Amino acid sequence: MILLNPGPVNLSDRVRNALLRPDLCHREVEFSQLQNRIREQLLQVYGLGSERWAAVLLTGSGTAAMEAMISSLVPTDGKLLVIENGVYGERLSKIAKIHGIDYITLSHPWDAEIDIKALVKLLDENADITHLAVVHHETTTGRLNNLVELAPICQERRIKLLVDAVSSFGAEELNFADWGITACAATANKCLHGVPGVSFVILQRDALPPIDTIPRTLYLDLATYCQQQDRGGTPFTQSVQTFYALTEALQEMVEAGGWRVRHSHYNQLASLVRDGLASIGIKPLLPLGSSSVVLNAYYLPDGFSYEEFHDQLKARDYIIYSGQGNLAQSIFRVSTMGAITHADMERFVGVVKEIIR
Ligand SMILES: *Cc1c(COP(=O)(O)O)cnc(C)c1O
Repeated sequence: MILLNPGPVNLSDRVRNALLRPDLCHREVEFSQLQNRIREQLLQVYGLGSERWAAVLLTGSGTAAMEAMISSLVPTDGKLLVIENGVYGERLSKIAKIHGIDYITLSHPWDAEIDIKALVKLLDENADITHLAVVHHETTTGRLNNLVELAPICQERRIKLLVDAVSSFGAEELNFADWGITACAATANKCLHGVPGVSFVILQRDALPPIDTIPRTLYLDLATYCQQQDRGGTPFTQSVQTFYALTEALQEMVEAGGWRVRHSHYNQLASLVRDGLASIGIKPLLPLGSSSVVLNAYYLPDGFSYEEFHDQLKARDYIIYSGQGNLAQSIFRVSTMGAITHADMERFVGVVKEIIR
């Protein structure tokens, strides 16, 4: 089965086999070494130094990392602005709400780009904003939000930028220094090609609250995790086997040439699909320049419900992904993350042609 959903992804044999390594107690030195290595590897993806930056590992899906980031890094006297243009931006707001964080939103329709003028106006009217949370790649539509434009607006106002990079980390540019990123949340099982079960937050060490601060959450408190992980420990049982898989996936990525090579690989696969579908009249939801290389959304072919189209593709070994909310009956999504090849995607285009003929 070829998974064209945005994670979990098809695993390489190498990553899958890593799951079979020896049983390991999370209180033993071998686990500390494994954890230290992953923390270092994650910083290396975008060349970050461990003096200033830390990767904090959590057992949980990408949402755990989002929730840890928001609940741990916005202090009680802080105020958050959340930018929404899809499901995941709206999820950031939900997290803020549940944790009783003082927040406001800048909401857009799901297919819209961030309205920079409206953002500036809102920030000018709310000079007490301390943190801004935004989704980098809004997987709802495949839009890559423009952090290059956001960054100086935040920097001028000394606003800390918290990024949901769950579906972009490892495949899209993340310029931590120039964009003034304070923290980003991501996961093992999307562009890094690992197994679901481990997620992480990469943060500037000085963004952590003082250790005597009472956290909003026990399980997701990044300060506790970071302190214990710096000492080789972990507050709770980690998903040992998925750690094995993640370290292997990160090593595999380095050997292949790092995030830039992954970016161009995804780009080639996405273009192949985009061109192939265009040739039979299937149109993308967003213009080319607005989309990530990771996932593209397309209008359903005429005369097909999503379910019918999905089931026919599934019968031919391809899993596409539905739209969410009111896009559910009009679009389908194709992600090209994971251990998939040109040949897989050429065959996919052929199969779509066969189905709609
Ligand atoms: C996948 C995804 C998440 C997290 O989803 P989980 O199901 O918790 O892994 C968060 N944000 C974005 C942008 C995503 O694509």
